[in-house]
Parts: sequence; structure tokens; C-alpha cells
Amino acid sequence: MTTESPQILPAAPADPADEYAMRLALDQAQNAWLVGEVPVGAVIMRGGQVIATGYNRPITTHDPTAHAEIVALRHAAQLLGNYRLPECELYVTLEPCAMCAMAMMHARLKRVVFAAPDPKTGVAGSVLDLFGQKQLNHHTALHGGVLADASSRLLREFFAERREAARQLRDARRSAAGAGTSVGAAGEGLDVEAVDTLSALPEVQEFPEIPVGDAQYLSMNSDPSQDNMQDNMQDDTQR
Ligand code: ZN
Repeated sequence: MTTESPQILPAAPADPADEYAMRLALDQAQNAWLVGEVPVGAVIMRGGQVIATGYNRPITTHDPTAHAEIVALRHAAQLLGNYRLPECELYVTLEPCAMCAMAMMHARLKRVVFAAPDPKTGVAGSVLDLFGQKQLNHHTALHGGVLADASSRLLREFFAERREAARQLRDARRSAAGAGTSVGAAGEGLDVEAVDTLSALPEVQEFPEIPVGDAQYLSMNSDPSQDNMQDNMQDDTQR
């Protein structure tokens, strides 16, 4: 007998093909960040080939449905000339919301792979499990947790940057008020009050179904750069 602690099985290695596709989705998430959107990205693959990509852009397109998955689905369906995509797999960096999950099911996707869980609006097991509802979904296999840490880190860094920008704006406004001058254009559009609420977001939650290591994530209920988001601050509106 040994005194070794119980054997810890190594985590199942992620499929390299899944990791490859998810890295492409993470690149798309970076694109979202570059245009000031919450960084979520998606890619649709068929037989190892990229069919379509998409990144989150509801604010810049004034389109509440412009989540990364919907953008990618529209591109893929246009390209293939078919509203059903039964041979395609969709990779997305954040657990899908109800809107996107139903769109994926309508498209008859073969498989959906996501990275980080979203405890606020995720319906792949976090808030609901729409993919597990056999009455709704006979078609779409689901896999979560691929590169979850990388996706969560991206979201954390995005919100940290937003908080820092808001902090600087607040300090500038205070200085300006003290000096009797107004703050210049650099701070326009930032909603300081909204950003303050980000600091009070709940801490990391466990996601029991899907191994995500020590992933941490923030809820995505605000974009402090957008004044028109202020009305939505009371809602847990994702993206
Ligand atoms: Zn969505």
C-alpha cells in the first residue's frame, strides 16, 4: 500500500480540431473588442473548413440580434444557400443565450461547442438547458468548456479596461469641476455610473456541468461606452 493521495485522472484532452476552431472564434472575439463590443466570437465549420465567422456587434449595428452566433449563422446560410446547416458545427466563446440557441436549433446544426459558461443568460446548462429539451431539439449535440479560460480572461480584461477608462474619466471630471472647466471629448460616451456597477458584479460562480478549470467571468450586462445602454442597466441584458 502506498500513502499516495487518490489518483487524479488527467482532464480529458480537448480535441485539437475543437481547439483550433475555438481559437478562430477567440480571434473573432478580439474583433468585437476592437470595435468596442463585448468580446464574443463565433465560427462555423464544416468538415474541417471554415464556412463563416461572426463577432458580437449589436451596439455598432443597432441590432439587438447581432450576437456572434447569429451573425455567423446568417453568413453560413447565405453562403450555402440553405437555411438548414445539418453538416455544420458552431464554435462560440461564450455559452449561448436563448435567442442564439433557438436559432442554432432552427438551423439544425450538427453540433455546438462553447468556451466559457454565462451564468446570467446561458441556456446550455447555466440558466436553462434548452439543448437538453428533447421536445425542442433532436439534432444538435453540445460540448462546453473548450478554451474556457482564454475566453473568460478576454472578458475579464475587457471589463477591467472599461472600469479603468471610467475611473480616469471620473477623476478628470472631478478635476475639471474643481478647476471650473469641462472635460474634453475624450470621455464622451462613457457612462460613469454604469461602470461603477460593474465593480459590484458577483464573484465567480461554479458551473457544475462543464469543467472550466478556474475560469472566472463577469456578467455582460452593460457597455459603459453607450449612453443608450443606461436604460437597460436594470436588466441583465447580455451583450
Ligand atoms: Zn446570443
